[in-house]
Amino acid sequence: MARYIGPVCRLCRREGVKLYLKGDRCYSDKCAFAKRAYAPGQHGQGQARKKVSEYGVQMREKQKVRRIYGVLEGQFRKYFEKADRQKGVTGVNLLVLLERRLDNVVFRLGFANSRTQARQLIRHGHFLVNGHRVDIPSYLVRSDETIVVAEGSKESPLIKEIAENLAGKNVPAWLEMNAADMTGKVLRLPAREEIDAPVAEHLIVELYSR
Ligand code: SF4
Repeated sequence: MARYIGPVCRLCRREGVKLYLKGDRCYSDKCAFAKRAYAPGQHGQGQARKKVSEYGVQMREKQKVRRIYGVLEGQFRKYFEKADRQKGVTGVNLLVLLERRLDNVVFRLGFANSRTQARQLIRHGHFLVNGHRVDIPSYLVRSDETIVVAEGSKESPLIKEIAENLAGKNVPAWLEMNAADMTGKVLRLPAREEIDAPVAEHLIVELYSR
């Protein structure tokens, strides 16, 4: 299945929640969801009154998580299968796997304004993980790994702009970020309560258990 290339703000309106897909714009009064918090399309404003089946609710939750992390359907299914094979609670395992994606970690560290931008920067080879260039956004980080900007990339105007705004950025407790030299470290894997995505992951488990 092809990656969605339409207007991303439409996805927030579709899911009925801010998915924070456009970086700084999402926190400004230009946010489309803040202006029109109803589903897109001709009948969008009537959607809230429509009764949605249990399956529909589970499906929407899965789509929402896919969109937050920018993961395609087949890839998402593989994450679920991997989460299901792991010890512990499958839904939590799934979210932890998604959080471990390098594009998410780069975004969480503040080295990109959105996961989409993080994916672009990673594909262009701007980051090293434990000293090795990694240009695969889906790379899963492990505890103790370091993420740094490649030496040559520090001259990129975009990276410079991001670096200037890094000081004072909050990062989750499972990560460590040094704004002065733009380096990050994975201290440990996240606990469920440290993942702030507005997700009811048990609905996804129910969906795939049908
Ligand atoms: Fe969603 Fe961000 Fe667009 Fe607002 S600006 S609708 S949060 S993608």
